[in-house]
Amino acid sequence: MNPPHVLVVGGGVAGASVAYFASRLGVRVTVVDVGRHAASTVPSALLNPVRGQSGAVDERAVEGLRLTWALVDELTGAGHPVAHGRVGVLRPVPDARARRKFERHLPPELLHAWLSPQAAPVALAPGWEHALWLPEGGWLDGAAFTRGLLALSGAPVVRGRAVGWEARSVTLEDGQTLLGDAVVWCGGSVGAGWAGEAATHRAGTLLTLDRPVTDVPMSFGAYLAPAAVGGVLGATFEAPAVSWREPTLPLRSLGWLLGRAEALTALGGVRVTGSWSGTRLSGLAAGRTPDGAWRLSGLGSKGFLLGPLLARHVAGDVVRAVSV
Ligand SMILES: Cc1cc2nc3c(=O)[nH]c(=O)nc-3n(C[C@H](O)[C@H](O)[C@H](O)COP(=O)(O)OP(=O)(O)OC[C@H]3O[C@@H](n4cnc5c(N)ncnc54)[C@H](O)[C@@H]3O)c2cc1C
Repeated sequence: MNPPHVLVVGGGVAGASVAYFASRLGVRVTVVDVGRHAASTVPSALLNPVRGQSGAVDERAVEGLRLTWALVDELTGAGHPVAHGRVGVLRPVPDARARRKFERHLPPELLHAWLSPQAAPVALAPGWEHALWLPEGGWLDGAAFTRGLLALSGAPVVRGRAVGWEARSVTLEDGQTLLGDAVVWCGGSVGAGWAGEAATHRAGTLLTLDRPVTDVPMSFGAYLAPAAVGGVLGATFEAPAVSWREPTLPLRSLGWLLGRAEALTALGGVRVTGSWSGTRLSGLAAGRTPDGAWRLSGLGSKGFLLGPLLARHVAGDVVRAVSV
């Protein structure tokens, strides 16, 4: 008997992870991807379990973090190296009030230490009162991680844009219809925009730098991190939008980004070599939708922290459903 066949729309980190875990469970997987505007090609993504300026920690963050690092090891071992640094993440914290807010969120199972700014592994710009050190964090090359998972899944990729999907079929722009036993939609921000869904999209930019300003990623407002080549300075800073738009880098945003970087640490003579802009989607959905198709989307700023973990759950549920 032929194994069940799962169609995955979207080959970003969500779709690649679903394809990888579903394949491992013994089903046949085909990925449909148009290859445009994937947020997952972000040149350097932080694996940072303590979020933004609120210090919130998702209840699945520690498990997600450990799974993503395990996948990086597995990919490397299988000949799909992913540039990364498992070197920790430094979160400068401005004052005692912000520190208390962060402390309230920190779960005991998350390794961390509070440092004085003088003891931080990176020389901080003046003005920070505290620094939170997260030794299990780090950075990775988003495109290489995603590519590696897709390759390891062994799933063929059909290049084309899906214009319709139901519980067991996907229709492409050229009129072709693909049939399967289940469909998992992982189209990310751009896919939700094309589908005309009501959603929250946020655009941001990474400036690529000729060298990493710091070996240890640091983040508050914006982030500085090493990358496969040089380093990055980035943030998702544009106002939320209800529809997808091609991301751009307005001059005022560039000024804001540079200001945030200088507030973190001295930039020295670092040079900007280019830029990467993308959009991410909020509103996590991980499961079956009323039309019978499945979905993993809305990973927000936690695509690499939680994407593989949630994909493992979704893939498990899908495979159970198609195997009965
Ligand atoms: C500036 C910025 C910085 C970020 N930094 C971090 C970070 O430091 N750490 C972190 O964990 N996350 C970060 N993120 C978030 C992360 O990039 C996203 O959460 C994640 O990449 C989303 O993955 P996805 O697979 O859902 O979507 P995507 O990566 O957007 O993939 C969707 C894929 O589906 C395809 N597609 C869409 N619609 C269709 C269709 N109709 N037919 C066929 N194919 C289709 C697209 O071409 C694309 O390849 C950042 C995002 C941005 C924008």
